[in-house]
Amino acid sequence: MNERKINKSEEEWRKLLTPEQYEVLRKKGTEPAFSGLYENEHAPGVYTCAACGAPLFSSSTKYDSGCGWPAFFAALGGDRVNFHEDDSRGMHRIEVSCAKCGSHLGHIFDDGPEEHGGKRFCINSVALQLEKMEHPPGEKTEKETKEAS
Ligand SMILES: [Zn+2]
Repeated sequence: MNERKINKSEEEWRKLLTPEQYEVLRKKGTEPAFSGLYENEHAPGVYTCAACGAPLFSSSTKYDSGCGWPAFFAALGGDRVNFHEDDSRGMHRIEVSCAKCGSHLGHIFDDGPEEHGGKRFCINSVALQLEKMEHPPGEKTEKETKEAS
């Protein structure tokens, strides 16, 4: 990974993003639960950052958490997301942001599926852009599945 980080002014972001995207990605807003485009999405593909296009999550790590937002138990490898302590709104949470452009994505919690490490990335749909593909990264190949069994 030797991608250059993106440093745009808030004015530039405001022009680039829709008002909904700007509110979440740059103002750390949260879309209403069960409102998002990807909450119930099951198509295979890679979820990229809606602000800069960096690949962040694979559909192979997405699961139905019932929390009202797209949930993933892992991010794509290579330090694509950053974590920050977030004490806003009277809660202690860990914020998740895009490592490339610094945009806010959502939060990470410790109530994810046990068998996958117990993490839940709770991410706003509006912060993501799904690029559909037949074999997203992280999906086990036939060979790996055979070796694992
Ligand atoms: Zn980004």
